[in-house]
Amino acid sequence: MKYKNPEFSIPERVEDLLARMSLVEKIAQLAQISVTHRNRGEVIGRIRETGLGSRILAESNLAGNGSEQAAEIEDLNELQRIAVEESRLGIPLLHGRDVIHGYRTIFPIPLGLAASFDPALVEESFAIAGGEAASAGIHWSFAPMLDISRDPRWGRIIESFGEDPLLAARLAEAAVAGFQDKAGILACAKHYIGYGAAEAGRDYNTAEISDNTLRNIYLPPFKAAIRAGAGSVMSGFHDLNGEAVSASRYLLSEVLREELGFEGFVVSDWGSVSDLLHHRVAVDRREAGKLAFNAGVDMEMVSECYREHLAELVETGEVDQKTIDDSVRRILTAKFYLGLFEQPYASRQEFERRQFTPANREAARRAAASCMVLIKNNGLLPITKGGRKIAVIGPFTDQRRALLGSWAIDGLIDETPTLFEAMRQVFAGDEIVACASGLADEMLISAAGADLVVLAVGESNARNGENNCVASLALPAGQVELVKAVAGLGKPLALVVFAGRPVLLSDVLPLTDAILYAWHPGSMGAFAVADLLAGDAQPSAKLPVSFPRAEGQVPAHYNRKSTGKAYFKYLDMQAAPLFPFGYGLSYTRFTFSEIQVSSPSILPTGHVEVSVLVTNSGARDGKVVVQCYLEDVVSRLTRPERELKGFQKIELKVGETRRVSFKLGNEELSYYGFNGRWSLEPGEFKVWIGEDSQASLGTSFRVEE
Ligand code: BGC
Repeated sequence: MKYKNPEFSIPERVEDLLARMSLVEKIAQLAQISVTHRNRGEVIGRIRETGLGSRILAESNLAGNGSEQAAEIEDLNELQRIAVEESRLGIPLLHGRDVIHGYRTIFPIPLGLAASFDPALVEESFAIAGGEAASAGIHWSFAPMLDISRDPRWGRIIESFGEDPLLAARLAEAAVAGFQDKAGILACAKHYIGYGAAEAGRDYNTAEISDNTLRNIYLPPFKAAIRAGAGSVMSGFHDLNGEAVSASRYLLSEVLREELGFEGFVVSDWGSVSDLLHHRVAVDRREAGKLAFNAGVDMEMVSECYREHLAELVETGEVDQKTIDDSVRRILTAKFYLGLFEQPYASRQEFERRQFTPANREAARRAAASCMVLIKNNGLLPITKGGRKIAVIGPFTDQRRALLGSWAIDGLIDETPTLFEAMRQVFAGDEIVACASGLADEMLISAAGADLVVLAVGESNARNGENNCVASLALPAGQVELVKAVAGLGKPLALVVFAGRPVLLSDVLPLTDAILYAWHPGSMGAFAVADLLAGDAQPSAKLPVSFPRAEGQVPAHYNRKSTGKAYFKYLDMQAAPLFPFGYGLSYTRFTFSEIQVSSPSILPTGHVEVSVLVTNSGARDGKVVVQCYLEDVVSRLTRPERELKGFQKIELKVGETRRVSFKLGNEELSYYGFNGRWSLEPGEFKVWIGEDSQASLGTSFRVEE
């Protein structure tokens, strides 16, 4: 049989197999189901009889913070064996799981990874996560999540790469490369499209995005993931511009396939096909299945409307047999691409060899240090090691689970060091005093007797992730009061904030000597904090999302449009966010000078090189993220005040200077604008290069007609 022979090409094998399949077997490939102890017997029967497309290794759509069963290799292999040996055509199952920011070795949450501004680091972390997952028998991960997120109230901001389309696009490519090219598991770009624009930051809520903003802001990361070869895309739960996305032919077929050229397969989100009833765009499950399938959802995650109704819909002509073949073709292509026909099983030995290895932990420690943002430092950090009494206090001193973050279902909680444990090892020559009792008065007593205080506050992993939204961005109850009380002791005070989103820092900012924003940093996050506090690692991360002063400023993204009246103000606070996109300090100082543009004017087909000298003028070696922002001075449609067009993370030794340059050509200078087209409009462009989105060193050039 041709399809079983790897000597033939994938398209040849797919066609051969497709030609042998009955309609029922084809429809079975479009299903993804969760296997529990309750339905296991029934599923086994189904696999034998018709085969099955995919098994999702999760028991609920709220797996991110739930207690999910580990994927057991023997169990996966057993059902796989039934598919391969006991079903008529022997088509293997595709195992999907949410490997979002690590498998056993947990890396920082994606919002933290974005703060690294380092695609190579993101690629490496996805490669390690994918490698661990692959050895556990997982073929497909539902990541990267590419929802542009401008609203920190939305709990799923933790899973995103933040507010900027270019940063998210570069990291999308890196994530896809890490999973697919390095680890050999299938990536899934999600949640297509605009899910992060949920009104009021309420999960699952309606989104309204103009065509212009959709293409200029929300689609670029998906476009980049598709260009990088992402094999699957997930359609969102939500409704966008009046259409339920999982029933939108326009979004799933016209935009995704025709405009973006996506050739892989689309999987619905958990139950988002049957959810069409809740959206009240389908009268029953039959209509829901028909709408979603005809719109372009190839595989249905868990809700089974396809299984119940597709055969009949084909008979009545409401669904075309050819469309079914196309969907099955895409899914089979993925299975051949992954090599499942040649190697359907996982090996326990290989699994044991690849999990949570010293090398993986070391990579997670380095990654976490590269993701933490130094928000404030009046000179307290780094702490010179040796001979001091350091109080390590606060609600996060002894946390393990919370450090892993939401969506860390396979992380090893017991093997996640606490901040206290890490501080003790890294500051072995100092006396580390802890207070794990959680009693504020005891914390104050520990702090009062110390030379300096490290106070760890923040939010739990349970306060973000899916359907974990908040109306207030303040630190959880009592924490500001605790910071005030500790600050009242007059000891040098470093605040470490563990969080999955931007929290409000205005109140604590003046009370502290230093603030390190640690996100939820993963398995080795506590060590990364200690490394940074000690100066064994250098802070180099930048905010991937603007930090507002108050919820009322949201959305506070830097790339807002220019307005007709430039004199807007709030009457109760400054209009600017507390910290802008791209902001973050280091232990050294970088100066930017001599900005140059290669040519004062170019033709629309040409490009310019804009460059600056960057000097490490401080007293320590360090890394800096050089950021290049563009303003299209006059355009036919309104444009953002500034847009990130390039970034490079470079390392400079003390006193070292390097010229860093950015190439700006058609891709960077055009936008989706008038008449629904991408175009470059001649005229003046301003460019700024610096350390954050408020960079002030600028130049300009013209694009001639
Ligand atoms: C989430 C997805 C996730 C899926 C499978 C859904 O609830 O929205 O992001 O991949 O569940 O667990």
